Amino acid sequence: MAGANSRDRELRERAAAVIPGGMYGHQSVALLPDDCPQFFERGEGAHIWDADGRRYLDFMCAYGPNLFGYAQPEIDAAYVRQLGLGDTLTGPTALMVELAEALTGMVSHADWAMFCKNGTDATSMALVVSRAHTKRKTVVRAKGAYHGAAAWCTPRPAGVIDSDRAHQLFYDYNDIASLEAAVAQAGDDLACIFAAPFKHDAFIDQAEPDPAYARRARELCDAAGALLVVDEVRAGFRLSRDCSWSRIGVQPDLSTWGKCVANGHAISALLGSDKARAAAASIYVTGSFWYAAAPMAAGLETLRLIRETDYLERITALGDRLRAGLAERASAAGFGFRQTGPSTLPLFLFDDDPDLRKGFCFASEMLARGVYVHPWHNMFLCAAMTEADIDQALDAAEGAFAALKRQVRELAPVEKLAFLSAGAR
Ligand code: PMP
Repeated sequence: MAGANSRDRELRERAAAVIPGGMYGHQSVALLPDDCPQFFERGEGAHIWDADGRRYLDFMCAYGPNLFGYAQPEIDAAYVRQLGLGDTLTGPTALMVELAEALTGMVSHADWAMFCKNGTDATSMALVVSRAHTKRKTVVRAKGAYHGAAAWCTPRPAGVIDSDRAHQLFYDYNDIASLEAAVAQAGDDLACIFAAPFKHDAFIDQAEPDPAYARRARELCDAAGALLVVDEVRAGFRLSRDCSWSRIGVQPDLSTWGKCVANGHAISALLGSDKARAAAASIYVTGSFWYAAAPMAAGLETLRLIRETDYLERITALGDRLRAGLAERASAAGFGFRQTGPSTLPLFLFDDDPDLRKGFCFASEMLARGVYVHPWHNMFLCAAMTEADIDQALDAAEGAFAALKRQVRELAPVEKLAFLSAGAR
């Protein structure tokens, strides 16, 4: 925690001198409670230790990459073994072919794979493939949905020029009429429709996809000869061992993957169907580190665990246990507490909490009890968690709800989130 004499505080001060803003992107704690640690020293299983050596049960899972536990022995052994043989070489190893075979064997819509490093690489590549395939420009995507931090999709406007954002139209997730209107506006220039597996925007309740909306997106793409893209970077393999929309019977043409596909080792992927193969082969995309072998070895081991273990059933049961236990404790304490989205990717918001002062206080009280939760972003369950961990989180929550109840009338507005009360949500 960021106490006055803490190592975290000292690192923040040093960072302020040599890292712009002290930290950037999703790793900045600028929009989190003041006592939220900025720096960590290690992770093991379901736990992380901050720079001051405090241990937390971690419901952020590195914002998704941690699916099987930090420092998972089998995955990291595969990674280290390959490091000893060579990582970034003059060309790829056989692992690249094996990983593409593994992914196309698991994800039903996929006939091919291309690898890159971050989710943004994959989503940007999906856009380029769609434009190459259709020879058209316009992307239709959901308002408020995050697809990465490139100029075409970053949520912050600084440094972005109008032409970076050209040829994009927006719809409301799950709202068929607004999707149809955006597609109609695109006319004969529709290159693709982007969709998240479910609505997982920050600051607001999450929502499962309406199957009718997903089916309509498919139909509209087919009618226009455009491509349907499902962005699995965040939710991939926490809802299904296949593409998430296979659960509702809709197959995209392209899907984008990252975060947990190698349990935290640096690799992401664009998967596609045969329809888009020629376009994918025609574009020039690359990166010095995109062919690195060690993350591919880790990816193969991660995919093996996805196929061969009951991790998905376990994290679902753990998520359900957490949800039921929190609902009980919140209502016993008299709070309206909304838990939305799939239980493996939960988000918590309090009723009557426009600037999130209750959410901030609850997150701080959880931190003080050794549990890292997020006040406005979805969280993640991992397979290293146990029922005992969930029960520990529930005990912490009971204490946190009671502490919140004592303080709730005196809570100060959260100045750093004032933009939310100003109607930005
Ligand atoms: N798409 C989604 C749905 C994401 O959640 C993210 C990252 N949070 C990205 C794309 C971008 O991934 P990355 O940060 O690895 O570039």
